[in-house]
Amino acid sequence: MIIVLRPDASEEQYKQLVDKIESQGLRVHVSKGTERTIIGAIGDERILQNLSIDAMPGVENVLPILKPYKLASRDFHPEKSKIQVRDVVIGGDEVIVAGGPCSVETGDSLLKTAMAVKAAGGKMLRAGAFKPRTSPYDFQGLGEDGLKILDEARSATGLPFITEVMETRTVELVYQYADVLQIGARNTQNYNLLKEVGQTDKPVLLKRGMSVSIKEFMLAAEYILSEGNQKVILCERGIRTFETATRNTLDIASVAVLHYETHLPVWIDPSHAAGNWRWVTPLARAAVAIGADGLIVEVHVKPENAWSDGAQTLRPDKFSNLMAEIRKVAEAIGRTVAPGESA
Ligand code: PEP
Ligand code: MN
Repeated sequence: MIIVLRPDASEEQYKQLVDKIESQGLRVHVSKGTERTIIGAIGDERILQNLSIDAMPGVENVLPILKPYKLASRDFHPEKSKIQVRDVVIGGDEVIVAGGPCSVETGDSLLKTAMAVKAAGGKMLRAGAFKPRTSPYDFQGLGEDGLKILDEARSATGLPFITEVMETRTVELVYQYADVLQIGARNTQNYNLLKEVGQTDKPVLLKRGMSVSIKEFMLAAEYILSEGNQKVILCERGIRTFETATRNTLDIASVAVLHYETHLPVWIDPSHAAGNWRWVTPLARAAVAIGADGLIVEVHVKPENAWSDGAQTLRPDKFSNLMAEIRKVAEAIGRTVAPGESA
């Protein structure tokens, strides 16, 4: 149930309402906007229906939950959420780009790539230390050593980093290093993992699974939000269709739908959607045009030597070109992309 308070509701009236809901063993999530306070009452709707909440002073409107996701929904939180990661604001006018190799390899190659990402206007670094590979015989990531290399690249460049956490037992470890915890497409519906990261205070970049509908995607986000962590970024990375010309089919429309349905920032990963470096820049342009709040792009100083996903990875000069292209698109729709160092 969503309870909208009157603009003139007093603090006393607000407290009475919260007490009444909590006394029934239900939980309360509050969204204080500039205009209104909105209370999400979480628990058995049947109990709530017997409480005559709509008759309480200070209450303007009571809405039953029409959608199964409540905390993620725009009904509950009409204003778009902004998420701060060190000095980077996600969900504002600036489109944030996170770049980096698919996997952390050596300290030297990561640092060179990170410097190139920064020079082109990238605001964050992204690379995997724990890799969910389709084949068990492929490189599985450096584990904690990879996190240490990421930490060094962050110190050297000042770029905060996003890295994947694959299982509940490593959440604590990855938490100690990462600025943003990534949940990969293969774990979008790993509910225990979602609950675990929901109990942390670090932003979570939640990727859409390859066979996950938009509704299921929002419900996956709801798992994290309902544990208390409100810092969730959604990331569309392509879904599985009959088409084989690209690695996945980028569901570009999902950005428009998600922005309508939810207040959470929405990003796009053109690299895993494309599977081939040639389509990455055009998809990135489309992503910005439709309103993505950020992008994750695979970049490597030598894609031909990359330990994973080399075929879809951009060389620094191509990444710099991508940045220049999306800057123009962003400008056309009243948004910005950070300038590169030579700009
Ligand atoms: C990744 O981002 O490194 C990755 C493995 O992507 P996805 O989970 O979207 O397949
Ligand atoms: Mn990859």
